[in-house]
Amino acid sequence: MVENIFWLGHDSFRLKGEKVVYVDPWKLSPDAEKADVVLVTHEHYDHFSKDDIAKISKPDTIVVAPASVPAPAGLKTLVAKAGDTLTANGIRIEVVPAYNTNKRFHPKSAGHVGYIITLGGKRIYHAGDTDVIPEMAQVRCDIALLPVSGTYVMTAEEAAQAANTLQPALAIPMHYADPDVVGTRADAETFKRLAKVPVEILEKSK
Ligand SMILES: [Zn+2]
Repeated sequence: MVENIFWLGHDSFRLKGEKVVYVDPWKLSPDAEKADVVLVTHEHYDHFSKDDIAKISKPDTIVVAPASVPAPAGLKTLVAKAGDTLTANGIRIEVVPAYNTNKRFHPKSAGHVGYIITLGGKRIYHAGDTDVIPEMAQVRCDIALLPVSGTYVMTAEEAAQAANTLQPALAIPMHYADPDVVGTRADAETFKRLAKVPVEILEKSK
């Protein structure tokens, strides 16, 4: 399944299965593959990029985003709220909460989210910008995409703790190595060393 998961830098992913699903598309190449579904976790500039969504849009692309994200013009948009289960272009998407517990950037009241996407029979959890939160104990997933940089999200050590709770077959670190935000490959390596589940550090794709 990992061969169908493309890390595009920071929290940005292209997931390929029955359909092409992007999460938080950002800094994409101009010729990036078109999307059937675009999931946005929250409105911050490094997660919601109108210009990048425009690059991958086609007439039937569906955007899924919480209410804090302005709906991109001309595209069908579904509002995502934690606890919802949505179907977008045939893809099942469960919406889960994402928030900070010990910093101010992503308060629980803001309604930021993560997603569990069922693709190719696998449940892929994109945690969004979050700390370790009690709701993670209820998340069932085969693959977990977890932030590791600290500052705005959980640290690598905390991400390892999250992975140990989630017990995915595979965990993939994210939210590092973008020069405009925070985090380095060392954070991903620390996460890999501490997590008691298989971890793969992806090379950045186009
Ligand atoms: Zn954020």
